[in-house]
Amino acid sequence: MGRPFTTRERELIIKYIVRHREYQRLTSANLWKEMNIQLNLNRTWESLRGHYKHVLAHNLEAFEFLTPEQIQSFKYKRYIAPTPRAVPKPLSSTAVSSSRTSDERIKQIQQKREVIEATVCLRCKQNKLVAINENEGNCIKCNLKHEITFEANEKEIKEIQIK
Ligand SMILES: [Zn+2]
Repeated sequence: MGRPFTTRERELIIKYIVRHREYQRLTSANLWKEMNIQLNLNRTWESLRGHYKHVLAHNLEAFEFLTPEQIQSFKYKRYIAPTPRAVPKPLSSTAVSSSRTSDERIKQIQQKREVIEATVCLRCKQNKLVAINENEGNCIKCNLKHEITFEANEKEIKEIQIK
């Protein structure tokens, strides 16, 4: 077992992820290899990843500089329901007829709404959101409005902002 992580080292790891918005690559070995080079803490990338996975990920609230939105971004995978069906294929401009395009679009919107409705309210952390449209969800308990940005694959939440 390596030397214990210092508070400064822990903060550097967390701040690196925030600064580079790497929430979606937390399980990717490449993220930890890159971070290890950048932070240059004289450790292995496996030790950074292990410390995050086993300690930091379970104690995010201890980092008082993190906003609730950032904490949720760290945990975002937990809030996403399993995908009920395959992701629609990207729309190809020529081969797809207009009615087909509109079907795909409706399906995409429906899918986004499902993801929003699997997301827990940032404030009361009890109720799941009700989708108002494809990019906004509302908490029926505390009435907080959440603006939601999706990744390019239309299925994963990248960012949630309270309105
Ligand atoms: Zn709420």
